[in-house]
Amino acid sequence: MGLQVPVAQGGHGQGLLALSVITETIGKACPSSALCFGMHCVGTAVIAAKATQYQKEHYLEAIAAGRHLTTLALSESGSGAHFYLPATQITTCGDEFAVNGIKQFVTNGGHADSYVVSTVASEDDNEEGDFSCLIVDSKAQGLEWREPWNGFGMRGNSSRALGLNNVRVPVKNLLGEPGDQVWYVFEVVAPFFLMAMAGTYLGIAQAALDAAGEHLRTRSYAHSGEALRDIETLQTRYGSMWIALEKTRSLVREAARLGDLGEPNALPFILACKADAGDTAVMLANEAMTICGGSAYRENSRVSQMLRDARASHVMSPTTDLLKLWTGRSLLGLPLL
Ligand SMILES: Cc1cc2nc3c(=O)[nH]c(=O)nc-3n(C[C@H](O)[C@H](O)[C@H](O)COP(=O)(O)OP(=O)(O)OC[C@H]3O[C@@H](n4cnc5c(N)ncnc54)[C@H](O)[C@@H]3O)c2cc1C
Repeated sequence: MGLQVPVAQGGHGQGLLALSVITETIGKACPSSALCFGMHCVGTAVIAAKATQYQKEHYLEAIAAGRHLTTLALSESGSGAHFYLPATQITTCGDEFAVNGIKQFVTNGGHADSYVVSTVASEDDNEEGDFSCLIVDSKAQGLEWREPWNGFGMRGNSSRALGLNNVRVPVKNLLGEPGDQVWYVFEVVAPFFLMAMAGTYLGIAQAALDAAGEHLRTRSYAHSGEALRDIETLQTRYGSMWIALEKTRSLVREAARLGDLGEPNALPFILACKADAGDTAVMLANEAMTICGGSAYRENSRVSQMLRDARASHVMSPTTDLLKLWTGRSLLGLPLL
């Protein structure tokens, strides 16, 4: 649980490579679990980035000890895929903030011990509307959980809407300085989230390849004795799946390596790798559905679950289209937004 917690607070002090390898490993078995773990790690990285002494002792040490689950609550229905534009408002009341708004799709919703929430200062506080991130404890008064998650896929992750009704949060739970939200979103959330999700979808792609390989190796016909693995068309399809998987894995590993080294050219690699892993996971799950035949097309088969889970990649923001747009813009030397 303390993968992203600094060693000084009892964690592993790891970066992007470890996160992508571990989410890949979990995602191969259960993409929802990889999503839950990934969002915990992204939330942890956000807390750790500019943690105060209080935040180190109260949150990071508990996370490293395996006693505290956190997550990110950024998205809102008003701004949708543009998750960096929250309308959830904070108003300063002495040594507390009053927080009001509605977050959507909060993974680990109702299960986490804390929520990293993005906000905008109310007009009373700041006419320019500074965006800030806060840690909201699960026990704070005024949290209202909406309907349980009932997704097309990713069904094990409790990604629910959260109402924040005049929730009181101590000022010491502010992350960084007022107005730091955009810095957190692009310097911490983006790299950690994108690598966690790239790993998750890489895990699905590997699982799809494994399922196709298993079926090709074990299925043969009673009438002729012919095995599927001896059919050239299927050998070609299987080879193409492997090529796509290994190309994506190379991109993800290189993005993580460059990101961990802080290389200036890391940005397009990091932006591209979740989009590419999502495309590869959907394509390979779809191919596995064809190769594995009727047993895979059965409702709730393992392969159908992979295909449903993989489709989440294209709608989870930054979405595939936004990431490809941002990759192009960064390569052309243009600002992302
Ligand atoms: C399983 C799951 C888990 C999630 N977990 C979390 C979480 O833990 N925390 C969190 O904060 N959020 C989470 N989200 C929310 C997610 O990251 C997105 O914010 C949300 O799904 C997208 O919002 P929307 O449905 O309103 O899409 P919309 O904003 O309606 O977008 C619809 C489509 O339009 C496209 N689009 C919009 N603008 C542009 C543009 N300018 N150029 C090109 N295309 C564009 C988008 O790419 C998208 O494909 C989760 C979502 C899912 C599905």
